[in-house]
Amino acid sequence: MFLSASIEHIDSVNHLSNISTTIYLPGCSLRCPYCFNMDIVNNKDLKAYTWDSFTNEVQKNISGHFVLTGGEATYNQNFETIVTFINKLRPKSIQLNTNMLQPDKLSWFLKSTKNPIVAFDFKSTLSTYSQMNPIVTDFQKRFIDSFFALKDYIENVNEYFLLQCRTTLYRGINLNKLTEMAEMLNVVNCKNFTWNLQDIYPDKEIDLDVVKDWIITLKKNFHLHLLYNEEETSIDNQV
Ligand code: SF4
Repeated sequence: MFLSASIEHIDSVNHLSNISTTIYLPGCSLRCPYCFNMDIVNNKDLKAYTWDSFTNEVQKNISGHFVLTGGEATYNQNFETIVTFINKLRPKSIQLNTNMLQPDKLSWFLKSTKNPIVAFDFKSTLSTYSQMNPIVTDFQKRFIDSFFALKDYIENVNEYFLLQCRTTLYRGINLNKLTEMAEMLNVVNCKNFTWNLQDIYPDKEIDLDVVKDWIITLKKNFHLHLLYNEEETSIDNQV
């Protein structure tokens, strides 16, 4: 078996709480206008591994923590095989970064992994998703099925599950959309849930003062743990 990937062993950016071995896999069901990993999505400049060379490299992990990202890892044909292999290494955690559009794969991941972590994209309201990604047709059902898979895991397996929602602040986002998204996220009854509002890397499409106003309004109306570019900011002190 051959596969393309990029493997980084001392990654301090992707994992929600630790340094990780991060495995970037090609392929994605979306084409977001702000995607900064499009070369990975399109399988450009990734290393070609045999299964043996891939597993040898993955075993060089030193932290016990892994991140599967991309691209969209659940969209990759080797997703289950790779997760199954990492699980045999008895990892401290496996984090999946996902766009939530492969609910069956997400459910399987949650059932198959002892210490899963999920960071998921919520890119816009469900009614306006297609404005950004017209190629997706049945995204609403897929997203909602994934959302309920997470909710089910929280309610029946682990309410302290490490979970993060990520929304990129591109020019199509506004406070009305964020409010509608917050109403949905507000039902996630997870003790370790954060909602990270992130600028487009490496640029910014929404002015910081506007973002501050949005965060203040959202924090007034919802009991959600909001981050801005992964950080607790002085915005919190103004609320
Ligand atoms: S879902 Fe993520 S990897 Fe896929 S195109 Fe959008 S930003 Fe890029």
